[in-house]
Amino acid sequence: MAELNEMRLYDTGISHGPAVLPAVPAMWSYSSLKEAETCPRRFALARADYPDLWKQRGYPRLPNLPAIKGDVVHGALQIIVTALITAGCVSPRTADAVTVLRDLGGYTAVAQRTLDEQLRRLDGNPRISADRREQVDRALSDWLPEAREQIQSYLNRMTLHPHPTPAPAGAPTRLPLKRYPIRGGTHPERELVAAHLRVKGRVDVLSVDADGAEITDTKTGAEAPTHRDQLRLYALLWTDDRESNPDALPVTALVVAYPHRDVVVAIPTEAELAELRAEVAARVGRADAMVAADRPAAVVGEQCGACDVRGLCDAYWEGGASNTVDVVDGGWYDVEGTVLREHGVKSWVLRERRTGSDLLVRTPHPSFTLPVGEQVRILGVKRTIDPDEADALIASVTSSSEILSVVSR
Ligand code: SF4
Repeated sequence: MAELNEMRLYDTGISHGPAVLPAVPAMWSYSSLKEAETCPRRFALARADYPDLWKQRGYPRLPNLPAIKGDVVHGALQIIVTALITAGCVSPRTADAVTVLRDLGGYTAVAQRTLDEQLRRLDGNPRISADRREQVDRALSDWLPEAREQIQSYLNRMTLHPHPTPAPAGAPTRLPLKRYPIRGGTHPERELVAAHLRVKGRVDVLSVDADGAEITDTKTGAEAPTHRDQLRLYALLWTDDRESNPDALPVTALVVAYPHRDVVVAIPTEAELAELRAEVAARVGRADAMVAADRPAAVVGEQCGACDVRGLCDAYWEGGASNTVDVVDGGWYDVEGTVLREHGVKSWVLRERRTGSDLLVRTPHPSFTLPVGEQVRILGVKRTIDPDEADALIASVTSSSEILSVVSR
């Protein structure tokens, strides 16, 4: 399936050069399906290759602090839970668990290691300036004490089921992600696959006994109805994954673990599972067709403001981005236009493409320059209304703004 498409080039119209659009995924996940359905263009551009920009896969992502925090908590929990069950602990509060945690260096040390791993992924990202990187590093280091509390809170609500055959001393604290029959015990980060549907999912904690499987998904953000849908999909994957669940054990509990409470989700009946199976098959078929298009459709909407690839999306610049005149004082927005001239040591005049209005763009320091005569897209400018010149159109560039050069329209 990975080779369903021939190489498809997409002209982004900016100096990053063309995008090589991705093939239709061999496997979909809950989140990738949702993303393709929300906006096929975003799905495709985020996963495309940009050989003129960098060698890594996908469009470089800007750091998303809530997402990084979630990954740190997940990563730390995986390490700790694996170590505890490997040592045969039934609870993180027992004396033997304290020894295991001490050997790991404690909660904060584990969180620090997983944070370091996440931060290393930002190395070489051409969209992150040195200033921005420093801000991100500092913000996440300051958050570590909170991370420690969150990790402890999740663990304190867990009941662990050691595996019938304990692993030998010195076994790795991260289990290999290979697939095998999942029988008794607690299993962190297990991949479930419904091959006939081409859908997979990574379950945070799977606890299996003779009665069946309890599936727990850890969420570090606010509660949302979509989390229940995700759990119901995991119930379907467990039911249909004959490699992981060869004994056809049923699901006995579905739990969403939030930072301060657990929410139990109703287990789908056989009939509901059959309905969900048919619905997922139809969604996969539609998603395949949407992302296989030569120009995947753009769905302009509320999601555009936080879209990582909006700088490359012509539909957004035609109908989604705001005009300066409509933005309130202090509001953040994106602007496209031609740089007319330097106005002062820290200001430039830009003619907005859609309105033809002249905008005064203030820059953070004198060495910050804009290319005169060129068309640019500036992501993340701040609207400023000067009380002495209420009609003047003014916007400020900051150290986290991003400037893209438009090379064709
Ligand atoms: S900016 Fe909006 S329309 Fe364009 S890719 Fe992103 S989400 Fe889709």
